[in-house]
Amino acid sequence: MILKENIDSIRKNLPPGVKLVAVSKFKPIEEIMEVYKFGIKDFGENRPQELSKKMNELPEEINWHFIGHLQTNKIKMIIDRVYLIHSVDSQKLLAEINKEAIKRDLRVNCLLQIYIASEETKQGLSEAELIEILDMKSVYPNINFKGLMGMASFTDNQDKVRGEFKYLRGLFNSVKQSYFADDSMFSEISMGMSGDYQIAAGEGSTFVRIGSLIFGEREATIQ
Ligand SMILES: *Cc1c(COP(=O)(O)O)cnc(C)c1O
Repeated sequence: MILKENIDSIRKNLPPGVKLVAVSKFKPIEEIMEVYKFGIKDFGENRPQELSKKMNELPEEINWHFIGHLQTNKIKMIIDRVYLIHSVDSQKLLAEINKEAIKRDLRVNCLLQIYIASEETKQGLSEAELIEILDMKSVYPNINFKGLMGMASFTDNQDKVRGEFKYLRGLFNSVKQSYFADDSMFSEISMGMSGDYQIAAGEGSTFVRIGSLIFGEREATIQ
């Protein structure tokens, strides 16, 4: 059973302006509907197939966020309905999303995922790769550059996590000034999960992506 108190306490902890994305990966339709009935309209998924199925079965009104590694051959499965792709982690992926968007006469909302952790496993662009993309951002006319995303190290060391979020906020501020000074669209920083969302919110996150604190723990083997 999903407890409304869990959601209420997360909401209470979020400063105004920080939006909650309920990460529903691996969770069945019925549980998502339960959370939806508590007033949550933003859900996050990390597998294109699963997202595509849920988009078809759940209310139109839901804003679907894609938060996982996206292979270029899977873009088609989600591009028509996705609200925001948080996890653009390569120039190649960005170019393909743009290409598919042009075919469909769409503009696709994207965040550029930045590598901020000190772990080998996390995806993301380096600062140099980010700059390379932004230097030529006009070649992606059908991409709405909405901001940056990052995942902190998985550690109990709060200072380390805070430092990584601070770094992402600083990078956001600097590219905002250099590349998007007149573009109000570039305004989002997606950072913070169940274990670190309060730190992220304190460091200027605008989207927190929370799964287990809402839905309960996922099976460790399928994370
Ligand atoms: C699974 C996942 C989350 C949510 O994780 P929790 O720790 O369950 O809150 C957030 N962001 C991404 C990219 C994820 O894959």
